Amino acid sequence: MEFAIWAYPWDLLEEGPDRVATQLSNLGIDELNLATNYHSVQAFSPHNPERRTFFARASSYFQPGSEFGRLEPVPYEGMTGDWVDEIAAQLSDVRLNSWTVGCHNSRLGMRNPDVTLTTAHGDDLVFGLCPSNPDVQDYLTALVRDMAARDHFDRIELETFDYFYGTGFGWHHQKIHAQLGTLGEFLLGLCFCDHCRSTASDAGIDVEQARKTVADTFDSIVAGTVPADLSPELWLREHDTVADYVDIREETLADLYAELSSASGSTPLGYYVGAPEPGREWMVGADLERLSEHVDYYCLPAYESSREAVMNAYRTVDALAPDVPLHVGLLPGHPAIHDEATLVEIIDALRAEGVPRVSFYNYGLLPERSLDWIRAATDTATL
Ligand SMILES: [Zn+2]
Repeated sequence: MEFAIWAYPWDLLEEGPDRVATQLSNLGIDELNLATNYHSVQAFSPHNPERRTFFARASSYFQPGSEFGRLEPVPYEGMTGDWVDEIAAQLSDVRLNSWTVGCHNSRLGMRNPDVTLTTAHGDDLVFGLCPSNPDVQDYLTALVRDMAARDHFDRIELETFDYFYGTGFGWHHQKIHAQLGTLGEFLLGLCFCDHCRSTASDAGIDVEQARKTVADTFDSIVAGTVPADLSPELWLREHDTVADYVDIREETLADLYAELSSASGSTPLGYYVGAPEPGREWMVGADLERLSEHVDYYCLPAYESSREAVMNAYRTVDALAPDVPLHVGLLPGHPAIHDEATLVEIIDALRAEGVPRVSFYNYGLLPERSLDWIRAATDTATL
């Protein structure tokens, strides 16, 4: 079993990449998933030598190459030079992977409202770029091409390269005083931008009927006349036009992943699954069986608190895509795992299941005692 850990560039640079490399070696880890292009963040950094908090808007931690078109990553304002290159140059014994955030980018969304997800009521959701939009597709493909061209990375891992929707993690002080439930949140985020509409219309779908059904049902959930806990699968079974509209997105995303695969060249491509919950990846437009033709593996962040919950999540997703390896992410800290014994138990169960690789979330965010648990768990797994 291989072990990796997610990390932010500021934590690596402020502690010193060589010191972190030594620390990782002590933890039994030889792979770093480095945030290269990232959404806005307010991070708590319990063992960073220079700070306890870090805030950044959606930023790249590299200087973008020449591949980009209309949409281009915005380098972090506090960065001089190129942090990705700097870190890569200083890490010798640690393999480096690009942890790459795609459509969740409120900075680009605010600057370019025409490329964001658009609700059935016509509102722009600034935190999410729509992957049906050709400019967004060019942006995502250029991101992968830029990462692949750097030669630093053993893998390129994709987060929210899909119809990401929902709350945008709430950093913008989101206020919603109505119970939307899983169905309501899904309907709120279902995109009716010009590109989603024309793709569906070309496929013979009555787009206006789909949009009206989604808008009316959403309003009915808010009014309390449709239950907020109604399962989206059951609801779609009764609403064929919307079901067809949702299915078309999976084809669009599969076509995009063919492009991403070609842009990554010989660098293995992984996609983070499990959102909005394991087994419901269709809600972000991802048909795991179809996408597995274009990716080398999936990684499931299973930030659960028990062996049973982690293994349930793992088996649910593995059954949807048995043809590519499924890696697992764990959170050995608050609010998921609270002690060493539980982490050891989970790692042992994943090893027994034949899981090839586990990534821990995340080097700079975890208190030092959590790092001690990782040391114990990786030791056990190598016995
Ligand atoms: Zn759209």
